[in-house]
Amino acid sequence: MKKLNRVSLSGKILTLMTAQEFRQKYLDFFKSKGHTIIPSASLIPENDPTVLFTTAGMHPLVPYLLGEVHPGGKRLVSCQKCIRTGDIDEVGDDVHLTFFEMLGNWSLGDPASTRGDESTRGGYWKKEAIEWSFEFLTKELGLPIDKLAVTCFTGDSDAPRDEESAGIWKSLGIPENRIYFFGKADNWWGPAGLTGPCGPDTEMFYWTGKGEPPDLVTGDNKEGWVEIWNDVFMQYNKTAEGKFEPLKQKNVDTGMGLERTLAVLNGYDNVFAIQEFEPIISKIKSLAVKPDDKAVRIIADHIKAAVFIMGDARGVKPSNVGQGYVVRRLIRRAIRYGKLIRVKDNLVVPLAETVVSISSNIYPELQQNKDFIIKELKTEEDRFNIALEKGLKEFAKLREMNGQIAFDLYQSYGFPLELTEELSRERGFVVDKIEFQNEFKKHQDLSRTSSAGKFKGGLADNSEDVVKMHTATHLLDQALRDVLGNHVEQKGSNINAERLRFDFSHPAKMTPEQIKKVEEIVNSKIQEDLPVHFEMLSVDEAKQKGAIGLFEDKYAKLGNQVKVYFVGDYSKEICGGPHVEHTGQIGSFKIIKEEAVAAGIRRIKAVVGKS
Ligand code: ATP
Ligand code: MG
Repeated sequence: MKKLNRVSLSGKILTLMTAQEFRQKYLDFFKSKGHTIIPSASLIPENDPTVLFTTAGMHPLVPYLLGEVHPGGKRLVSCQKCIRTGDIDEVGDDVHLTFFEMLGNWSLGDPASTRGDESTRGGYWKKEAIEWSFEFLTKELGLPIDKLAVTCFTGDSDAPRDEESAGIWKSLGIPENRIYFFGKADNWWGPAGLTGPCGPDTEMFYWTGKGEPPDLVTGDNKEGWVEIWNDVFMQYNKTAEGKFEPLKQKNVDTGMGLERTLAVLNGYDNVFAIQEFEPIISKIKSLAVKPDDKAVRIIADHIKAAVFIMGDARGVKPSNVGQGYVVRRLIRRAIRYGKLIRVKDNLVVPLAETVVSISSNIYPELQQNKDFIIKELKTEEDRFNIALEKGLKEFAKLREMNGQIAFDLYQSYGFPLELTEELSRERGFVVDKIEFQNEFKKHQDLSRTSSAGKFKGGLADNSEDVVKMHTATHLLDQALRDVLGNHVEQKGSNINAERLRFDFSHPAKMTPEQIKKVEEIVNSKIQEDLPVHFEMLSVDEAKQKGAIGLFEDKYAKLGNQVKVYFVGDYSKEICGGPHVEHTGQIGSFKIIKEEAVAAGIRRIKAVVGKS
């Protein structure tokens, strides 16, 4: 294979590692430690409606982490395609991508009962996992120890300080002052509140800054310290009562970002400098009149992610729902940033061709689906360009701006809010984001409804039903907590004109009595005709008042302020709205189905009646 050369600051010729060499090195290393190499699963998860995309290497392995026997044995290694839509807003910084590849190795099973000699390929635990991580980083990759730091779990009332991991790092030669201890927010796997497997993790960081590395701090202020790898030790089972019991099957689950690690390995301070991005980045720069680094990075990332989603074996095209909506957003955002840096020609197709040619030796599905990818991208780009032009004409006629108008521009002409904001600034208008977001949220429910093919009758009638179900969902959420316990947390919600659907954490099937009780509570709250109102509160105030819901909800959050809906005194929940004015408008409430959707997650479908 051709080596890439680069001259370092000191004038020495450095040999750069390619992504392909690095990927193979990782797989081969763990193969030599008794692991079976397993292929990347689809980006679009099978049988898991709770998430749109595969977000980590462990994701397709969940059934095996929970006890299913894997045909590859107890030691597995993979390079998994991942999409993290939650990171879209971070993209443009040095280390976050929407699409990235995650290298990972796993041990399935309790090491105490399966440990054996190498030939039995039994499970392993902290000692082996950390030793191999260390060996791979320092021996295989040759990263200097004095640029590494690690973090371990500091311990709390649920679980003790992870002295075991820290001790292993120390014995390997990581100095004590480079071993840091943090709490659950940083060094714990398993979302708080959820029941099921969880445990401490130990993370590895590499110093990319200049000079003597400063202390590693928690939060976003790591400046120069890059997290490259995470070893998770699934050790406990969190019960519905909130107890942390030792897990029957202990697992090791590790994840290392390929692009990030490759970048630091080659001496770069950002992921976009690696060879897999370079041709995409230069193409964008060559097409732009006014290239700006951040915009160029965002375009490169978004087109690559869109190509991988469309080119997946279960690929999807741009649309208004689900995965397709993410694809649409990625493409349109890329085009939008293209306009910002004055790209004259169509940009999407040549970039997609570059992505396919770079990546299809490892991901042949991209080449196989190339015609589909190119055709759909072209259609989407043309459609968006025409709409943008019309929209700009409409914009020129505007005499004022508000959230409603911003939303109309979005809906009719596909104007992203950022574009409206920027154009508004030029004209001296101000956009009300909350108003825009409320309209947006309402629309999302409606578009889900229409795309489900269940859209009957007039828009007004249906949207009224949707609003009723919105409020009923809040009552249901609280009633479930009353009946089942405070471990109940919303895991997903979807409303169409026919029914509401609510996914929540709970370890067991609900009994008929529990279902009846929940229905009774919701109906009694409807009969009390409670008033509904919202308040904008700081996150702290909201927590103090006992508000539940997703504190990170993009539609309900502005700066540090969150929108909290109050249904009488009964329910307080973070939400963008909209809701009925008083609960009597809901009429009545009935649960039509209660079922499992994933381990520890139940789903309720319910309908509301005429008032
Ligand atoms: P960060 O705090 O930097 O967002 P994370 O804690 O979300 O990282 P993990 O969920 O532990 O990361 O994922 C394991 C590894 O995957 C990380 O150590 C990192 O190398 C890589 N990784 C995570 N998110 C991204 C991303 N958006 N782009 C590129 N690599 C990523
Ligand atoms: Mg992250």
